[in-house]
Amino acid sequence: MIIVLLGAPGAGKGTLAGAIKDELGVHHISTGDLIRAEIKGGTAIGLEIKSYVESGGLVPDEVVTRMIEGKVKATAADNKGYMFDGFPRTSAQASDLDKVLAANGLAVNFALYMEASVNVVLQRLTGRRVCRKCGALFHLTNMPSKKEGVCDSCGSELYQRTDDNTETIMKRMSVYNEQTKPIIDFYKAQGKLKTVNADTGADDVRKALIAILNGKKY
Ligand code: ADP
Ligand code: ZN
Repeated sequence: MIIVLLGAPGAGKGTLAGAIKDELGVHHISTGDLIRAEIKGGTAIGLEIKSYVESGGLVPDEVVTRMIEGKVKATAADNKGYMFDGFPRTSAQASDLDKVLAANGLAVNFALYMEASVNVVLQRLTGRRVCRKCGALFHLTNMPSKKEGVCDSCGSELYQRTDDNTETIMKRMSVYNEQTKPIIDFYKAQGKLKTVNADTGADDVRKALIAILNGKKY
């Protein structure tokens, strides 16, 4: 099964993927996580792309597509399928993804558009906390960790992403509206778009996805 998660920053793509990837047995590929790992590791690519992420802009398409291509090539043979989170984010990336998959004999099954309202995503992003070690996601009030500042899964420290401040969030939202929203139509035109209400809690979105996978209409 190959699923693309679409939705604004804060729509809950990473939370959904974290909650369901083991159950589905798919690879969870988050370009945000791949990008942050490059930056944290101080690699040549990391140094090149740091400023884009910190300003709330997009990393150039060819850099991100190369990352995805590498991941797909390395894992396609195991036939587990994928959940793409945060990719594609531009029309060019959407057609690149189709090409990368086709080169490996694969295709997207459907895109899940997680539709969330602006006030909801702002509240989610400003209160988001992330585990430094395992990447698990928490929220100060919506999904607090059992012990403040400490990851429930691995006991490491939680931190606030540097791009989760109001100014950068506003920039990310406008980039989303201008560059990413149009790809909803790309998947609609292919008859592959499923839309769910993502204002509800994480578990409702998870159930909606399961219903879609079980062939219920959405
Ligand atoms: P969110 O969905 O909350 O915005 P992500 O972790 O998906 O967070 O992305 C964080 C940042 O990483 C983005 O603002 C952007 O700078 C960069 N990024 C992630 N995915 C892509 C992508 N597919 N193309 C370009 N830049 C990306
Ligand atoms: Zn952790």
